[in-house]
Amino acid sequence: MGSTEEQPLLPTVATPRAQLKRKHHEIIDLTADDEEAVRAAPGVRDAQKDQSTMQRRLGDDEIESESQDADEDEDDSVVDDYLDHFEMQPYVAGSKDGLPQERAIALCTELRQTDPGSFMAKYLTSSVMSPRLLGTAFGIDPELAVDEEIFMRILGNSIVRAHRKRQKLAQYNTIDDAAKLLRRSRKIMVLTGAGISTSLGIPDFRSKGTGFYDKVRSLGYSAGEEVFDIIEFDKDPSVFYSLAGDILPDLNRFSPTHAFIKLLQDKGRLQTNYTQNIDNLEELAGIDRKRLIQCHGSFATASCRKCGDRVPGSTIFADLRAKRVAKCKRCEKAIAEQAKQPKPPPPPQTKRKPPSKFKLRKNDWESSSGEDEDDDIPSPGVMKPDITFFHEKLPDTFFDRFAEQDSKDVDLVLVIGTSLKVAPVSEMPHHLPPEVPHIFISREAIEHVNFDVQLLGECDDVVVELCRRAGWGLRHEMIPEGGLRVDVRSVEGSTYRWSVIPVGKTGGPSTTQKASNGVGTD
Ligand SMILES: [Zn+2]
Repeated sequence: MGSTEEQPLLPTVATPRAQLKRKHHEIIDLTADDEEAVRAAPGVRDAQKDQSTMQRRLGDDEIESESQDADEDEDDSVVDDYLDHFEMQPYVAGSKDGLPQERAIALCTELRQTDPGSFMAKYLTSSVMSPRLLGTAFGIDPELAVDEEIFMRILGNSIVRAHRKRQKLAQYNTIDDAAKLLRRSRKIMVLTGAGISTSLGIPDFRSKGTGFYDKVRSLGYSAGEEVFDIIEFDKDPSVFYSLAGDILPDLNRFSPTHAFIKLLQDKGRLQTNYTQNIDNLEELAGIDRKRLIQCHGSFATASCRKCGDRVPGSTIFADLRAKRVAKCKRCEKAIAEQAKQPKPPPPPQTKRKPPSKFKLRKNDWESSSGEDEDDDIPSPGVMKPDITFFHEKLPDTFFDRFAEQDSKDVDLVLVIGTSLKVAPVSEMPHHLPPEVPHIFISREAIEHVNFDVQLLGECDDVVVELCRRAGWGLRHEMIPEGGLRVDVRSVEGSTYRWSVIPVGKTGGPSTTQKASNGVGTD
């Protein structure tokens, strides 16, 4: 490493706003069913590439040419793979091959009190210890068979991650602690994902074996990206329209977990509900739009790709169900009015081919949209539901609300029904004040973010039990008359992970109500 002390190795970790803004182009991962697909999401890759590029400044003065981009991409994915691996399964150093545990803890403590740049300057530009030895403090296997450049990038990224990683608060551990926190808190931030809607039969696109995912695959698409990619959509919206009818929300009912969030609102305790879901069931449950951030948009509204006109989403539901590309009424009206005006003589042009009978194919949407029209007659814009597509920005409201308000004054965070694998939502816990308690509610335990209490089971069961312990009545048609009785058991001797399973139910995931075997997803 050739850096000198005058050149800081890394900029200090950005402020929440800057950090999140950097990820502004991040997109939804609607259909990825595994981690590979999550990583393959262009936004996720790009954000991490940003960081790797920062790392590469660590002393490599050579300018890398653009032709090396492909190699870089490959290297980035190798680095990402190792980062994820060591985050989930950190290397545990033995007595001879790594730093003693106390020394490792001291280093991590020191890192948190400084910034990654200064920390790396201190330990990587001096001969205090070798990078491989330092890496053991961050869970990296010192024998890792990669070249030194890749190793340094893994180490640099691990240090940045460790610096911003939230620390568990020792004083909160049990489900009763969680219930007390609910009663005590006035500005609760609730972060939700697909798990809060699965009891209604709405598939989690990321689970294997769901209808939508299979359908996309059976039509020859490698993943959902193509169907939910704004560039592809603009080329040919008929692909999206041929499939989206199947994911239209069934707007008749919401889950007990939605009712729980509404209850928090009724008690004046809900600060903001950030949801990754696009089913818009929060609105049906009565959650105030001012308290709701739909991180990936929703079907609640639709907009014209040409003139930007925004209409209620239900306006295009009939088209979506009929697999018919919806066109903009406003554009159509403007075109009709324009047609009434006396026209100047058209410029000379070659005659177009006769009206085509072929079906819509990629790239010829625009030219074939008005089959019996000349090219100079404008065609109306295509309507798109305001769900966030790949290559589209996340809504500004997300960043504004979080950076300007919630990151400063929430007093409790509840994460429900999401594994927090997709940025930027996955980053949020790391950008809140360290004293804000975090509670996690989902089927599977989470490793890569430190929560104070993890309540594992069906979200609906857990929130019903939390309310009971908080002394709150939660009413919903899916909650049994007379209440729900649950077993709360510590998981694998953990002091803060608890499984919450209805009495009489033998563990394992299944639907909450009238669970018929075989309904649950895998
Ligand atoms: Zn329009």
